[in-house]
Amino acid sequence: MSDKSESSGDYDLVVVGSGAGAMTAAVTASAKGLRVLVIEKASQYGGTSALSGGGIWIPCNHHFKALGGQDSPEKAWTYLKNSIGDDIDEPRVRTYIDKAAEMIEWLEKNSRVRYAVADKYPDYYMHLEGSLAGGRTLDPELFDLSALKGELSKLRQASRGNMLMGKIAWTARQAHVAMSKSRGWRLMIIWMMLRYKLDFMWRKKTGEQRDRRTALGNALVASLRASLIDRNVPLWLNTNFVELIEQQGRVCGVVVEKDGQQQRIFARKGVVLAAGGFEQNPELREKYLPKPTSVSWSTTPEGANTGAALEAGQKLGADTALLDWAWWTPSFLVPGETKARGIFAERAFPGAVVVNSLGKRFVNEAAPYLEFVTAMYADNEKTGGKSIPSYVIFDSKFRFNYAMGPLMPSQIMPDSRLRKEWLNKLYFKADTLDELASQIGVDAAGLQETVGKMNHYAETGVDEEFDRGGNAFDRYYGDSNVAPNPCLAPVAKGPYYAMPIQAGDIGTKGGLVTNERAQVKKPDGQVIEGLYAIGNTSASVMGTTYPGAGGTLGPAMTFGYIAALDAAGQN
Ligand code: FAD
Repeated sequence: MSDKSESSGDYDLVVVGSGAGAMTAAVTASAKGLRVLVIEKASQYGGTSALSGGGIWIPCNHHFKALGGQDSPEKAWTYLKNSIGDDIDEPRVRTYIDKAAEMIEWLEKNSRVRYAVADKYPDYYMHLEGSLAGGRTLDPELFDLSALKGELSKLRQASRGNMLMGKIAWTARQAHVAMSKSRGWRLMIIWMMLRYKLDFMWRKKTGEQRDRRTALGNALVASLRASLIDRNVPLWLNTNFVELIEQQGRVCGVVVEKDGQQQRIFARKGVVLAAGGFEQNPELREKYLPKPTSVSWSTTPEGANTGAALEAGQKLGADTALLDWAWWTPSFLVPGETKARGIFAERAFPGAVVVNSLGKRFVNEAAPYLEFVTAMYADNEKTGGKSIPSYVIFDSKFRFNYAMGPLMPSQIMPDSRLRKEWLNKLYFKADTLDELASQIGVDAAGLQETVGKMNHYAETGVDEEFDRGGNAFDRYYGDSNVAPNPCLAPVAKGPYYAMPIQAGDIGTKGGLVTNERAQVKKPDGQVIEGLYAIGNTSASVMGTTYPGAGGTLGPAMTFGYIAALDAAGQN
């Protein structure tokens, strides 16, 4: 540490990072009487959490219970045990099951955070015992941004891909109604557009382009920040965490860079590392993640999560795990945008097929995103590099009816209105499949054969290779008006389209090993006193799996809550 560093005021708890887990820890610690400081290196708060869907996977939550939903800790344990397998960290997983519901109920009573249950959103592994067809994923309620007053411009903007037409906020429940074309979807969209238009005065007054209401992860972060403002908890932006201060074997503060100066900040009860993973660090990606890999495929904020907290923990001898894993998601590279866009739902829409450059399928397109990219890497290995990138292929009927990444359905946004610079980069177009195959360097005969099979499956309703649409999770994003299988339709009417898909991520999954109190551990099992790690700075409690929507933020917030209680001596 530089001798030039100055010491700033003392706190009880310093929280590094300003994602949802970090701010949950800060709200909790403040409510429990601790003097808290949140530091964030970016010029805006919220991290990836602000761009996310904001879903949290909370077994036995009170919202589902209120609807009469049936869940139990043993059922959730059975499901997680079946998902994670023998490597399950039983004390941590059991603690998660015990505390997650308590965390969200407490947060709703003691802050501005508000959730509702997405009771139709199935767990991701519906074939496993203990899974539920809905009820464990919670979806943030809309949040009125005017509550943030002067702090609004410092909130990281929501992803365009998360909003209707790139600008109108909608909840995950509303997005699902539209995507599955459930009853009333058109009216709902007209009403939402009208509501947005009629609110022009607020946008004029504030100079904001964004919807006054925000949704999903942006609503979660905004409501947490508003709750910190209510409690006068400071959040320092443009403050880069550099290293930990350790005295007599205990972490008691951090060194930060702020305004070009190094400062030491002391924290009597400890430090919570919530600075995300390392997905934005090319060297660490090369060191730990499977190859090929690229920062540009990640959907997280450019330059944010570069692994500083991971390296600081390693320097103090912390143990690490799962460093070769990410929360994978296939992604599109959109010309002119600073980060890739995740492809979460569209793969399940009927009539889109994904192939490698042999023209062959290698995965159930509707599979959960982590499994999709895991299959991409496996196939890439098997075929000697033919699956990264892969290509999603669809026809003009699909194009008319459904969105694919930033391409809104052509009934709303015809090709003539698509950005010119997208052609032959984001998407390719040709009158015949053979021509399309030659444009993207895919084997034409392989593609013809695959499309032939898909068209047959669309007729019978049974995907004989990958069972697409064979479970409730796949069908969640299918088109409820399409039969016999809402995830299958023929690819038959030109022109045809192809879009390259990368092996993207929504953050890394590995990190510092922690115990059920969120304390960082050394390889011998001893804890580093005063040091907590949560979110993607810690190795995921979910192992190598993604059991349901909200499987990253749910644990980040729950272990943030636990770390704060622990620091306050109330765990
Ligand atoms: P972040 O939220 O990224 O916060 C880390 C913060 O630390 C950042 O603000 C960063 O700038 C800051 N930081 C980094 N280094 C330093 C440093 N040296 N000094 C100070 N500050 C630092 N997960 C779910 O569970 N549910 C969902 O619905 C969901 N949807 C998603 C949708 C999208 C489009 C994306 C991209 C992700 C989604 N995720 C979802 C994943 C989820 O958002 C992330 O896994 C989660 O936000 C990670 O939380 P975190 O606190 O670890 O990191």
